[in-house]
Parts: sequence; C-alpha cells; structure tokens
Amino acid sequence: MSDSRATTATPGPRADGPQDDPPLLEVRGVTKTFGSGRRRLTALDGVDVRVGRGQTLGLVGESGCGKSTLARVLLGLERPDAGTVRFDGTDPFALRGKELLAWRRRVQMVFQDPFASLNARMSAADLIGEPWRTHRDVVPDAKARDRRIRELLNLVGLRESDGRRYPGEFSGGQRQRIGIARALALDPDLIVCDEPVSALDLSVQAQVLNVLSDLRTRLGVTYVFISHDLSVVRYISDRVTVMYLGKVVEHGDTDDVFESPQHPYTAALMSAAPVLKPGGDSRREEIQLQGEIPSPFDIPSGCRFRTRCPHAQDLCATQAPPLAVRETADGARSHTALCHFPLRTESSWG
Ligand code: SF4
Repeated sequence: MSDSRATTATPGPRADGPQDDPPLLEVRGVTKTFGSGRRRLTALDGVDVRVGRGQTLGLVGESGCGKSTLARVLLGLERPDAGTVRFDGTDPFALRGKELLAWRRRVQMVFQDPFASLNARMSAADLIGEPWRTHRDVVPDAKARDRRIRELLNLVGLRESDGRRYPGEFSGGQRQRIGIARALALDPDLIVCDEPVSALDLSVQAQVLNVLSDLRTRLGVTYVFISHDLSVVRYISDRVTVMYLGKVVEHGDTDDVFESPQHPYTAALMSAAPVLKPGGDSRREEIQLQGEIPSPFDIPSGCRFRTRCPHAQDLCATQAPPLAVRETADGARSHTALCHFPLRTESSWG
C-alpha cells in the first residue's frame, strides 16, 4: 500500500471517489422509496456508483440491502425518486421511442436461473435469438441470424449443435452459458449479472466466471456483478461496492477493500468468508454481528449500522456518519467508507 495516500473524513466527496476517463455508467445520489406514510420503505438512499468501460463492479451486501433495486434502476426498470443516472453521458429515463429502444439494447442482464422465466419448449437457438424479435434490425435475415447464433454459442463455449437442444437437456452451467449468449445477442455495452453463479456447483461456478471474464477481454463488455458470495466477487471484480440498508457503506479497488476493509460491516462480511491463500484456506477471526438487519421501514437514526456494529459509540446514534476517503496522490483511485470511526491503521490507511 502506498504511503502517498492521504486520508480525510468529509461529507463532501462522492461515495465512489474520483476515477479516470468518463465512465460508462454514473449513478449519483439515487434514492428510491416504495409505499407512503408509515409504510414507506427506503430501498436506496443517496447511492453513488460509477463504472468505467470494460470494468467489472462487484455489488455486495445481504438480502434487502438494495442491490436488486439498484439493478432495476440500472436497467431502466425503476425510475429513481431523486438523483441522476447517466449511461454514456445520457439520462436513460429521458429517452422515448426509438432512442429508448436503442438504449435498451446496450444494457442487458444475466439472471441466476436464465430459464426460470423462459419457454422450455423453445430451442436454445430460439432462446438466444429471442431478443431480436424486438430489435429486428440487429440480424437482417435468417442467414445472418443463424451465423450470429453459431458465433454466440462458440463465444460461450458451447457447440453449434447445442442450438437445437432444449432447456431440459442442459446442465446448470450450460444453461447459464445460454443465458450469457442471450444477453450478448444485442451486443450490449453493459451486462448486469444478478447472482449468475450462485445456483451452480463450485467447479461449474469457476467455468462460468471464466466465460464472463474471457468475454470481457474479447469484447470489452462492462459488468455490474451482484453477489452475496465474496469469493466470487473478489475473483471477478475490479472494484467493489458494499451496500447496507440502501446505502453504499464502502467502495474501492477490490484488493484494497478485501485486504483492508474500513467499514465495520464490510469487515464483518469478510471475516465470515474463506480467504483463499497459497498453501491453504484460512479464515480471518470471525466478527459476529449482533441481531438482524433492521426493517427498511424503520431505519435507525445516525448510522444505520449502529444497532449491529461492534464499534458503535454515542455519536453514531445521533449523527449520520461522514464519508472517510483515502486517495492516491494523483487522485486516480480512492477507497471510501461511510463511518465515524473507520478501521484505519497506520499501515493500511494512509
Ligand atoms: S458510524 Fe459508528 S455505528 Fe456506524 S459503522 Fe461506524 S462505528 Fe459503526
């Protein structure tokens, strides 16, 4: 870790910190609530996310932290109450008609089980090519369609003859490869992967992750990768965003966050996950969190993690925590934590 890093505690900067180049995706201050009055649920509260072209952002947190709502916002399926979303500089929620259709092509999704909502009586080739029913100009004729399906099957490591088979004839890993091929059919810039390997056996998980990783290298595709499995996120992501009860609580380069988590929640999540090291698997000393995640209908005052935090102090109940930021000297990268008392140490934080 560089000694040239400076640490500040300030509510000013963005939660994702400065980065290079105009990003492909930039979300700033996005808030989303559902319901009203006492039944108002805060799903996202001032969320910032920034993803560079060709990067993979890992999005982690327990169930109910807002990951899925954020995914729906990124896909244009959920309009935020406040904040901005910019995709390649454009606000997707301002688009209509043909422009909206063109934008939809650029953002696709890979689901946990791609066949859960698909027609089991359609062949793999028909499933992969189904998005072209809406986006007819992508493949102008049957010949182009067949050629593209063969290309897509090859890209995800399946045989061309697999296109004639049906969902029930495939293993879980093969199904997910078909789901990925389907997501690629419209040649997207961004793919949101929602727990894409969590239903698969460990050995198959590695194969599917390698397919995704290889596609990124070959096609330059950008991923937002949602998972509760930290080892998977560490493997696939360049940067990691940790969410708790609708807020981003930590963000940074994957190695920085995993090697030196600054938010007590991140530290607890990581302590419960195996750390794969040369010479064997080891665990950090596990940090036991007290209690359950509070109801999103009734978010605690001050720091929303305080009811479970082993480091909570009086201040945490009365004041919302500031954003503690560590930056490289050139400002190119940053690691942020939303906490009054981040876990910095001399050796690991500035
Ligand atoms: S602000 Fe306080 S309660 Fe919240 S994570 Fe930091 S130490 Fe824990």
